[in-house]
Amino acid sequence: MADVISSLSTQPKHFLSNKVAQFTESVIREMTRQAMLYGAVNLAQGFPDFSAPAEIKQAARVAIDADVNQYAITWGAKNLRNAIARQMGVWQGMSVDPEKEITVCCGSTEAMISTLLAVCNAGDEVVIFEPFYENYGPDSVLSGARPRFVKLRPPVNEGGEWTFDEKELRAAFDKNTKAIILNTPNNPTGKVFTRAELELIRDLCVEFDVLAITDEIYEHIVYDGTEHISMASLDGMRERTVTINGMSKTYSVTGWRVGWAVAPEKITSAIRKVHDFLTVGAPAPLQEAGAAALSLPAEYYAKLAEGYRVRRDHLIPALERAGFKCFRPRGAYYVMTDISEFGFEDEVAFTQYLVKDIGVAAVPGSSFYRDPRDGARQVRFAFCKKLETLDAAAEKLGKLRR
Ligand code: GLN
Repeated sequence: MADVISSLSTQPKHFLSNKVAQFTESVIREMTRQAMLYGAVNLAQGFPDFSAPAEIKQAARVAIDADVNQYAITWGAKNLRNAIARQMGVWQGMSVDPEKEITVCCGSTEAMISTLLAVCNAGDEVVIFEPFYENYGPDSVLSGARPRFVKLRPPVNEGGEWTFDEKELRAAFDKNTKAIILNTPNNPTGKVFTRAELELIRDLCVEFDVLAITDEIYEHIVYDGTEHISMASLDGMRERTVTINGMSKTYSVTGWRVGWAVAPEKITSAIRKVHDFLTVGAPAPLQEAGAAALSLPAEYYAKLAEGYRVRRDHLIPALERAGFKCFRPRGAYYVMTDISEFGFEDEVAFTQYLVKDIGVAAVPGSSFYRDPRDGARQVRFAFCKKLETLDAAAEKLGKLRR
């Protein structure tokens, strides 16, 4: 035995998959760890630092007290699926069958990767607008799909919108295109896709027989009278859209990990299979609390959006005073900024200086682009924070100019 062992190489093989070599840890989540390490104000990762609604915390306590401690139905507790179906009708005028068209997952993060794993084959292409929420890159790699990026260009005039070039979008579609990932309201730009833009995307999806996978997690966080439109509500899209959403952003419970995918029956069956073997199910008592959350009155959503508008309008002037050029978001709770003014070599060096010396954590723009150089002048700040947190950040950012 000893001989056998001594004759074996003492160097283990590298063990790792080729897939993991193609992406890094999330930079967004890394910046939260750095904020903790350096005691900086965390405007990096998009999670609220204020309380969730009392009613839904109470609903979670009630569920635990009632011993809702075991697995829910794999694809989601019936109460929650019924509530999701009902609210899709109220919010988007869409009729959804809770028995056949909804999969509840561990956050919209799992809903997205389960969907991609359920629909993609090696060699399939997925169209993604960039800058993009960083998960979509690794999600594509893990599902074997090849991302095709289409640029969103920052507004040229103050108060303008992020736009894309129609020809460039069309050029990204071909016979290998399986899906397009759309995130509206958009992280990190704050863009809310207009009906005309969605119709253009719809026409391409129909022409090239492509599936739309839409991440609508910021559905209720819109400003300035902007309207969120669900892709699936457009004529011709119900049968070729997977709509992803969740509790995290709407009810300020990002750590509860309850999200969902709404899709036509056949696609839902495939998503449910992947989801079952990935995670079995989302936390059962928190799904019951989700049913309570989705029963909050309409005023709740109006207040949520207004609260974020106030925070946006609080942070942007402070950033501008500190020397940032801000791209004003129409939705979601991030502001992308241009940092050219500060004369740093790149935004990674700048965000390192910001977190260590100034005491504010933000996300380097390169995290949202395939080619890091495209984000080298951009930094994202999250404003889903108490006003006093934003004030503390503003005070620290004041040191930048001094
Ligand atoms: N969506 C949040 C962000 O962009 C974070 C989500 C996450 O870390 N899972 O900051």
